[in-house]
Amino acid sequence: MTARILVVDDIRTNIKVLEAKLTSEYYEVITAASGPEALDAAGSQNPDLILLDVMMPGMDGFEVCRRLKADPATAHIPVVMVTALGDPEDRVQGLSAGADDFLTKPVDDVSMFARVRSLLRVKLMLDELRMRERTSASLGVISPPVPRLEEDYASARLLVVEDNPRDQQRLQRMIEGQFQVEMTADGGEALSRARAKDYDSVIVSLALQNPDGLRLCSQFRTTEETRNLPILLLVGPDDQKQLVKGLEIGVTDYVIRPIDRNEFIARLRAQVRRKRYQDRLRLHYQQSMEMAVTDSLTGLYNRRYMSSHLATLLAQRASQHDTAVLILDLDYFKQVNDTYGHPIGDEVLREIGKRIVRNIRGIDMACRYGGEEFVVLMPDTDLQAAEVVATRLQQSIGGKPIATKAGELTVTCSIGCTAAIAGDAADSLLMRADDALYEAKNGGRNRIVYRRG
Ligand code: GH3
Ligand code: MG
Ligand code: MG
Repeated sequence: MTARILVVDDIRTNIKVLEAKLTSEYYEVITAASGPEALDAAGSQNPDLILLDVMMPGMDGFEVCRRLKADPATAHIPVVMVTALGDPEDRVQGLSAGADDFLTKPVDDVSMFARVRSLLRVKLMLDELRMRERTSASLGVISPPVPRLEEDYASARLLVVEDNPRDQQRLQRMIEGQFQVEMTADGGEALSRARAKDYDSVIVSLALQNPDGLRLCSQFRTTEETRNLPILLLVGPDDQKQLVKGLEIGVTDYVIRPIDRNEFIARLRAQVRRKRYQDRLRLHYQQSMEMAVTDSLTGLYNRRYMSSHLATLLAQRASQHDTAVLILDLDYFKQVNDTYGHPIGDEVLREIGKRIVRNIRGIDMACRYGGEEFVVLMPDTDLQAAEVVATRLQQSIGGKPIATKAGELTVTCSIGCTAAIAGDAADSLLMRADDALYEAKNGGRNRIVYRRG
């Protein structure tokens, strides 16, 4: 996994050292010597990760971090604060400025590369989500930006997996009141709870016996429902080798025992923040996609989606001779609105949508084409078979009154129906169906007209 890393430090030698290390692992390195330079580079050069020195004259690292995280254009870039050795205050302050992680000087290679890889993995996932967001925007969905909220940490749900009773108690005391905490000593139990419930983060003791801590982490990562659940690993001071393995497996973060309470809470908060941001991106994307393809009144597919689907259907040569379409338009619908009002008209349209869906096959696609016009696409259907569907739809719509708040109404429809012939494109096919519909209207309405190509 190669990536572009921005190294920020006011001391030239420090930059050189990090640059040499990172380049030797084939990362691309860009550099900045001050806070303002860093903000500039982050905005214009699209780094995948930022290693940010805390102590800089003028604008210090905390301030740079706060500004990066406040700007929607750079907020998604992971930031690792590089702090002076043994300054727990700095760490906590860095994490509350929104930093994703920190390293202490002199930077130790093993943990640096492990952390860099772990953060780049998260970045990759966020990039994917952000790209989908752009896709839905290009489909014409204008959705508000994903909000970055003031987090309510007290409602965050954490699951602690620790089988040492004394450590369990200690952890409980440390974080109770800060989050909603559940404890278990059993790895299997943890896995099944996490599959059933939406936790914000899971905390796993590396020293766990059954299964061992790393195995449990790996199970979390390979299980569909928990693949994106942040994992914080609790490690002993001599567990470096296993820790590196854990980070390779996909552990999101770690703390070293004895645990510093402030750092622990700050790290957990960072996990919760990231998890919720991911969830919001995902949900947002889902909603955008739904808006992009469906009509909000009837829940049927919208015209845009139907058109592109029809084009795809026709492009598959084999299906070219057996795709049928019909256009259905309600008769004198304006009168329904004029007599009973628009909301009653809407009720009728919703019910018509339901009746259409109930009377077509699963592989057929119903769409709201315009105000009171609907289109049904029928793959693998010739004109003769389409006749059966068209007749059934006409019956189901006009043959039974619709119950509304204004009482029962009967609405009939006119239908134009045709099937694709060689050389048909989506628009020529729809135009033929529309022609047939026009004829049905002119012929007196409440009827079906078929057109051969
Ligand atoms: P025709 O038999 O020739 O189709 O007559 P019509 O009245 O159905 O056709 P026309 O095109 O004159 O009017 C369509 C009406 O559909 C007008 C408009 O108010 C109504 N309509 C369009 N979209 C909606 C909607 O979303 N809700 C409601 N309630 N009415 C709608
Ligand atoms: Mg009409
Ligand atoms: Mg119409």
